[in-house]
Amino acid sequence: MSLRQIFVTTALPYANGNFHIGHIMEYIQADIWVRFQRMQGHAVNFVGADDTHGAPIMIAAEKAGVSPQHFVANIAAGRKQYLDGFHISFDNWHSTDAVENHELAKQIYKDLRDIPDAQGGSLIERKTIEQFFDPEKNMFLPDRFIKGECPKCHAKEQYGDNCEVCGAVYAPTDLINPFSALSGAKPELKTSEHFFFKLSDPRCVAFLQNWTQGLDEQGKPRLQPEVANKVKEWFSVRTNPDGTTSEGLGDWDISRDAPYFGIEIPDAPGKYFYVWLDAPVGYLASLKNLLDKRRAEDAKSPSYEAYMADPTLEQYHFIGKDIVTFHTLFWPAMLHFSGRKAPNNVFVHGFLTVNNGEKMSKSRGTGLDPLKFLGLGMNPEWLRYYLAAKLNGRNEDVDFNAEDFMVRVNSDLVGKFINIASRSAGFIAKRFDGKLGVVSADGNALLSQLREALAPIAQHFESRDFARAVRETMALADRVNEYVDANKPWELAKLAGQDARLHDVCSTCLEAFRLLSTMLKPILPVLAEQVEAFLKIPPLTFANAAQALPAGHVIGEYKHLMQRVDIKMLESLFEAPEPAVQKVSPGGEDIAPTISIDEFAKIDLRIAHILHCEAVEGSTKLLRLTLDVGEGVDAQGKPLTRNVFSGIASMYQPQDLVGKLTVLAANLAPRKMKFGISEGMVLAASHADEKTQPGIYILEPFPGAKPGMRIH
Ligand SMILES: [Zn+2]
Repeated sequence: MSLRQIFVTTALPYANGNFHIGHIMEYIQADIWVRFQRMQGHAVNFVGADDTHGAPIMIAAEKAGVSPQHFVANIAAGRKQYLDGFHISFDNWHSTDAVENHELAKQIYKDLRDIPDAQGGSLIERKTIEQFFDPEKNMFLPDRFIKGECPKCHAKEQYGDNCEVCGAVYAPTDLINPFSALSGAKPELKTSEHFFFKLSDPRCVAFLQNWTQGLDEQGKPRLQPEVANKVKEWFSVRTNPDGTTSEGLGDWDISRDAPYFGIEIPDAPGKYFYVWLDAPVGYLASLKNLLDKRRAEDAKSPSYEAYMADPTLEQYHFIGKDIVTFHTLFWPAMLHFSGRKAPNNVFVHGFLTVNNGEKMSKSRGTGLDPLKFLGLGMNPEWLRYYLAAKLNGRNEDVDFNAEDFMVRVNSDLVGKFINIASRSAGFIAKRFDGKLGVVSADGNALLSQLREALAPIAQHFESRDFARAVRETMALADRVNEYVDANKPWELAKLAGQDARLHDVCSTCLEAFRLLSTMLKPILPVLAEQVEAFLKIPPLTFANAAQALPAGHVIGEYKHLMQRVDIKMLESLFEAPEPAVQKVSPGGEDIAPTISIDEFAKIDLRIAHILHCEAVEGSTKLLRLTLDVGEGVDAQGKPLTRNVFSGIASMYQPQDLVGKLTVLAANLAPRKMKFGISEGMVLAASHADEKTQPGIYILEPFPGAKPGMRIH
């Protein structure tokens, strides 16, 4: 088989929070498939990125008192511990706010806009629509930020798109007594020009019918049957936001009005791409960033353009069932009609439920916190194995059940698989100098069953039916254990004259263990590495596994490969956490590290009288203050004063300050500035993020304080 070029992504997580177990399941699913492809010798680029744009992040950042860029950078900084922790082998992690994404999104938009008339003209259309506008916040409100009374069941405080009490779906304009969830203000209806991608255009409909319902490059139905059936419905009937239905695909609103954290639409100032337009472009941006970095190190490495132009390149996206519309309609159409290749496929998975379908909730979580799992010292490969055993490649929900998890790890993974090595390796080391022996006919018969299973199990990995791969591997492990029980090496070891048989049986077991390790390697990459080191063999692949280790091959020392799950760990994992303390960074920054009273006493703070104040020529920020801190008079009897510069010109006029008392850090080393020497610092308060929360406020003591008094 020739080497395949494969480009794989997971869905981009929205950068308004940490990963939950649902994200980790998707990453593990994709990672197993990617590792399998790499074992087959194929060239895979596996990338992810943070999805950073949109109103919810803009609003969350404002609440946190930081810029959106600062907000998403904080979230991004927390990603690595999860990805490394669960052995997710991404080649790159990037951001949809990166320059590559701004450029690619704008280019794709321009390509869609500028389709020549010969090809039916532009697929981008401008329409004027009516939307709720928050007059206090001065912005159009996304549906989720409008609340009011449900028009059907009259439940209060329901969102603008659907009622959480009765489940009704409606338009925000249907709400009774609507109000802005941001300001509480009564929203006003305002018109605005929006940009639409014309999915209803016959060209789009024809292309998408074929892409979603037709065959892939191998001549097989492209989408999973349950996904294809769901998508099929959208071509016939569509529910409009106002509850009415229309025939066929609706056009897609791809613009939002300022203020919006996103990518500004070329030639349309104040209009931004809706986050869902640029989010999937982030797949390409992360890939481009990776290929550019590689090319900077090695000029022979392909450019992004050359890589994407390869007609044999395969592109796949692993996604959850909640974002099928975006990935089976919008994304393939955007790529195709902008002159790019549509993805080869999208692989849809269901949701992860925990402990018998307990509904996953963003606010309550699932009770299975991935970082807590790692923090308790639980082996990430236990979770990889358990999820693999449940993922069958179909769009079905998967339940994490604590008891089932313990049984599968302890009985199957450790009991059936790891034990094969632990029951045979010691004898090879102690009795036969670590050398493998000759395998006789019965051993070979067993081993040939395992070898014959390599190809079908590889096929299950290819088709993402990991559950079947695990099931068949464990059935083979059962056969090996039957062989062990029939031959009882621990008894052979005690019998005289049975050395050759003991050597034969243990060698058979280790060869079987090597084959089973190959079958589990995409799922258990760290364990497989330990097995390779212990057996002293090159990296296992499905191709090289068929070649048995020869008699006389020397193995290394066996160290126990995997612990069992301790029930106490599971109890701790699902223990309700202590009620969380709602800590924030006051004023946008954390409280500084603790200092002693002696350290504090080093700072000499004094009451100062502002004798004079003036603007500083050449500076828009600074005011020059002349301060009396009670330091006496000079030879001419004039008060000794301090000259201090302070960056408060944005807030105060000089005449506002003259005659006022304030606080001066009086023993600060004099600082030479462009405009003169500053002899101390006037204390003033400001927020850490000056851009979004401007304002600086100087201190003024209560009446009675006199110039020169020290502040203790
Ligand atoms: Zn309702």
